[in-house]
Amino acid sequence: MFNFLRFAVVLTLTALVSCNPAQSQDAPLPTTLPTVMEVRVSATPERARLVIDLGTQSQFSLTSLSGPDRLAIDVRAGAITLAAPEGVPSGTGLVSGFAVRQIGIDRVRTILTLSSPAQVQQAYVLDPFEDQPARLVVDIIPATPEQFATNVAKDLIAASGAAPPGVADTSTPAGGSELPIATRPLVVIDPGHGGIDSGAETASGIKEKDIVLAFGLRLQQLLVESGRFDVALTREDDSFLKLEDRVALARTNKADLFVSIHADSFQQPQIRGASVYTRDENATDVLDKVLADGENRADVVAGFTVPQTAPAVVDILVDLMRREMRVQSFMAAQSIVHQLEPSVELRRFPVRQADFLVLQAPDVPSVLIELGFLSNADDMANLLETGWQDRTADAVARGISLYFDSLKPTE
Ligand code: ZN
Repeated sequence: MFNFLRFAVVLTLTALVSCNPAQSQDAPLPTTLPTVMEVRVSATPERARLVIDLGTQSQFSLTSLSGPDRLAIDVRAGAITLAAPEGVPSGTGLVSGFAVRQIGIDRVRTILTLSSPAQVQQAYVLDPFEDQPARLVVDIIPATPEQFATNVAKDLIAASGAAPPGVADTSTPAGGSELPIATRPLVVIDPGHGGIDSGAETASGIKEKDIVLAFGLRLQQLLVESGRFDVALTREDDSFLKLEDRVALARTNKADLFVSIHADSFQQPQIRGASVYTRDENATDVLDKVLADGENRADVVAGFTVPQTAPAVVDILVDLMRREMRVQSFMAAQSIVHQLEPSVELRRFPVRQADFLVLQAPDVPSVLIELGFLSNADDMANLLETGWQDRTADAVARGISLYFDSLKPTE
């Protein structure tokens, strides 16, 4: 986890410098500054999230403060129109209270009071969409007292200008736990359907296979650009693949994560929203069973027989591995859903289970993302909109990154 966190800290310190008026006097100020319209904080013992609604896109910076332990989040904004400028989070955990103040003509500071040492896991600004304003989202996770003290020291140095010569690099923890990453994890993206199998289709001729291929290619691009992953696709064009071939591709290449992408249909047009599935013989509800049964017939539709997947012999090692993969698959699904949540309409209980055959690899964590449903008009409008596609692909890529972070031992 450490490499990514350090990366996040460097990013935020750069942001601090770039929006410090003292350091950018030559830059013309925009004529209108955004307004802080709403601040929401939620907390559990494992994580906290701050969401700041802004009139428009803005810049931000993050600072760790001690005595008492706090996190300060500054956004470039000209006014506050909050009902209550201070309060307590929903839930109990890492953060015990918050307060919002205008601290300069173009700066609004939100102070989070910490119940225990914590650090920013990630922070990003979402563009406005539909009826939602632009939002700054800050995710916070526990830190050791040493990590927190290091962050406070680094922010002090950053606030006083460049680090003076001779000062030890405090970003390397004692004990030198950081090692270069030898190999990058392999993510296999599986755009559903293809070729003779169009998947879901609307009356106007929009096909699931085309939507999920475009999305898969966009997701591949984002993951490759992050520099952290090798990425393979089960199909890069409009070709047909059997379900078992998709699974085999992931297994043969010893993939670290398999992500199948779909946008199916329900008979009930009111059902909408994104969801992420892991495999379980017992579906979350009857609709999920119908969905999986439909997907599992893809090979039949294309003229192949249904693959026989029931293992003839119970192998205890395979069984143990399968259980471990189910745990990891569930963690991946949760991580992706958590990133989708602030920017995408989700189904109720968005982490779901169903018996999708494409998720059957016993040795590769596997999830299936339903981006939305072609049978719902709102979802379909979203699925065809570039802004929505980009936002959703960004969120899925973040979710995948954070899932891999969570696998690394922290100390
Ligand atoms: Zn599908």
